[in-house]
Amino acid sequence: MTDTAAPIQARAGGTGWLEGKLAWIALGLVGLLLPLLDDSYIGVIAQRAYIYWVLGAGLNLVVGYAGQIAIGWVSMLTLGAYTTAALAAGNVGEPWHPYLALVAGGVMGAVFGVVVGLPALRLRTFYFAMTTLGFATIVTQVALAWKSVTGGGVGTPGPVFPWPFDPGWGFYYFCFFLAAIATWMTANIASSRFGRGLIAIRDAEVAAEASGVAKPKLLMMVFLLAGALGGVAGGLFSSLQSYITPDAFTFEMSVLFFIGILIGGRGSILGPALGTLLLTVLPEFAAPLVQWSTFLYAALLLLIVLVIPGGIADLIDYKNRRPLEQHREIAPRPELLPRLLDERRDGEVLSLKGIELSFGGVRAIAGIDLEIRPGEVHGLIGPNGSGKTTTLNVISGYYAPQKGEVRLGTAMLPPGAPHLRAPHRIARTFQTPRLIGAASVLENVMVGGTIDGQGSFAESLLTLPRHRRDEIQLREAAMLALAVVGLESLAGVRADRLQHSELRFVEIARALMLRPACLMLDEPAAGLSAEEIRRLGALIKAVSRAGTAVLLVEHHADLIFDICDRVTVLNLGKVLAAGTPAEIRSHREVVSAYLGA
Ligand code: ADP
Ligand code: MG
Repeated sequence: MTDTAAPIQARAGGTGWLEGKLAWIALGLVGLLLPLLDDSYIGVIAQRAYIYWVLGAGLNLVVGYAGQIAIGWVSMLTLGAYTTAALAAGNVGEPWHPYLALVAGGVMGAVFGVVVGLPALRLRTFYFAMTTLGFATIVTQVALAWKSVTGGGVGTPGPVFPWPFDPGWGFYYFCFFLAAIATWMTANIASSRFGRGLIAIRDAEVAAEASGVAKPKLLMMVFLLAGALGGVAGGLFSSLQSYITPDAFTFEMSVLFFIGILIGGRGSILGPALGTLLLTVLPEFAAPLVQWSTFLYAALLLLIVLVIPGGIADLIDYKNRRPLEQHREIAPRPELLPRLLDERRDGEVLSLKGIELSFGGVRAIAGIDLEIRPGEVHGLIGPNGSGKTTTLNVISGYYAPQKGEVRLGTAMLPPGAPHLRAPHRIARTFQTPRLIGAASVLENVMVGGTIDGQGSFAESLLTLPRHRRDEIQLREAAMLALAVVGLESLAGVRADRLQHSELRFVEIARALMLRPACLMLDEPAAGLSAEEIRRLGALIKAVSRAGTAVLLVEHHADLIFDICDRVTVLNLGKVLAAGTPAEIRSHREVVSAYLGA
């Protein structure tokens, strides 16, 4: 009793609040005190670094978190710069107040951020990279041709911001504060369910969708934010340059933004901030090298990729170099399940009727009926290639069957929308565990609770109360889920440091975060020791007894016959036999085709 009632400590991260913030505090102090040097040359370099980072901070979410290769993001800088400059200079109608013109630059960036981002929903990496480059070229060409607004090749003057951010140290602090705000906002997103959704899309897209992460909407929000920040950076840039022409926005700049993030490390804020700072400042102190900058960036990138693939962020992440305990054991605590799962309402039956699915000439599923009842473990067995995983993929909406229907209770589950299964509380694991290697175990599990968050993207951006409440609840639930599967001591560890069997249990914890009405497990015992399989069996049984309908795909006959209430045997995409474990064990065809002597 004392055991189950004890609060589960959220000791993820482990170390103190200050430790994580120390580098930021140091950077902030240097930035605040730099004007004391009273060196205007250093001031200008720093302003440029801040401006680049205003753009870089947003781009970091696109590139470093979402894994989208937006290599031509300089276009947002160009758009923002020309919008701000042209409006403030009065090239279109009356001159705007410079601060208002800067806001317009941000809006312009936001709009085109979404426009440029749209192809990312359809195109794969390389092709998307090309479209962003193409767009950057178009923007420059338009700037050249649209002389009345942009001044064409002659250019147009940048705005001069009046007090309090007037030229000199006033403008310096303007850039500094905007860079700080951009950092703060993107860090807020990064540590929210939206940020976790982004890296989930990057590293485990299918699992992200199964957890209810809505990729199109999430990516659009991020492109909007990154575009807006790029636009604001552009407005600042036009003021810094005091005069802008199309050739101020070079391909090298775009490469700088992109590589600054990569050498900083994907999925970090501090790393890319340092990376961008480094790439801005270095050429200044090695003036003769400026012509070589593209070459140097490439060489630096190559070096990073070869020597420290995780970038600067990896170098400074000493916590994850502490050795893990060698002989760890997974000790699930199913008795905690009632605290994690809902008080059970009468669960609903998941049913498949007449499902047929072919891939080209291969009939993967040739007419399957299946009923999975709440409170029961339903085993799905059969030889390799008999259609087990495909059946799971149909249920999770990943494949659209050519015939037949999937229902939960009376509700039809439409095919082709995997992220809409989560609201129906249908959860799953994968034959090959799909986790975010670069994220902590706790973060991985928190991804599973994505749809329970109430706060909007904007609320997370500003850490408003609903965002904070979401985070506390998700964290608590995830710690509880980890305690259920017996892995809470690994909560703060990067998932790619775990052993295979631990990954399987982390996936189960993530699935449990949905408080599933139906839980589908695809060969969860593969690669586990005999003792681990026994514990897994007890856990699965407990999950079903809590009112969940469990569909268990497995090859371990012992496990199947131990814990299943019902078993369906597939062969060549058809149901070969269905019944109780005892019936299946003595079924002649099953024994000869699958179970063996
Ligand atoms: P199981 O999980 O029972 O081992 P699967 O469901 O993975 O089997 O596969 C069933 C059949 O469907 C196999 O013949 C497999 O090659 C085929 N198949 C599965 N997925 C695809 C796909 N995406 N494209 C083409 N064929 C597929
Ligand atoms: Mg399979």
